[in-house]
Amino acid sequence: MTVNGKETANVAQFNLILLGPPGAGKGTQASRIAAEYAVPHISTGDILRSAVKNQTPMGLEAKRYMDAGDLVPDEVVIGIVKDRLQEPDTAGGFLMDGFPRTIPQAEALDAALESLDRAISKTVVILVDEEDLVRRLSGRRICRGCQAPFHLLFNAPKEEGVCDKCGGELYQRDDDTEATVRNRLAIYRKQTEPLIEYYDRAGLVARIDGAKTPDQVYDEIRSALGPAGE
Ligand code: AMP
Repeated sequence: MTVNGKETANVAQFNLILLGPPGAGKGTQASRIAAEYAVPHISTGDILRSAVKNQTPMGLEAKRYMDAGDLVPDEVVIGIVKDRLQEPDTAGGFLMDGFPRTIPQAEALDAALESLDRAISKTVVILVDEEDLVRRLSGRRICRGCQAPFHLLFNAPKEEGVCDKCGGELYQRDDDTEATVRNRLAIYRKQTEPLIEYYDRAGLVARIDGAKTPDQVYDEIRSALGPAGE
């Protein structure tokens, strides 16, 4: 397999980035991609929420940014991702969800991968209209136990407030209120959207129409990624 003009050491590597505004359905698609392509799903949001829950020093620092819908400082999330890339389960590839979110994060990821003699294989961008996103995010519920995502309108749990998968309690994230959602979208436009051009320059971007059903979106992603295990 050739990545960025270089032969990669491991032909089966899928070093993937999933990009898109908050509420585009990244979490839902990420679980499916990770399962089919057999790569670990690395969500900096999930790692940070777990640090907040466990009240680690990093979690305590990150919480005030997260509650306001602001970005956690680059050096904190870059440190998280660098550590995560040392874990052996990333050897055959990975799926980054929610990282990178700024140009310095993207540059740090490129540098970290280069030192491991690896490179990004594809950046999947899920595109969704902004008003649609506000509607989607306010109905979102997450399982406290297994982090499975649900939606009161589009993917309602069988029993209200209870996770279909593990029976855990469903909750609304503090950062899913409308004012915070609008702030997160503004930050996305300003800081994260330029990454599409960054990865376009390397010819790595697959644009996916996120307004369709989750199954249709996933079908488009699969066509863009090609068969697993190639
Ligand atoms: P997410 O679940 O990806 O929407 O992330 C939830 C929150 O965690 C974000 O609103 C940020 O406050 C923080 N966060 C997650 N990933 C990053 C990142 N790559 N850079 C900065 N902050 C992040």
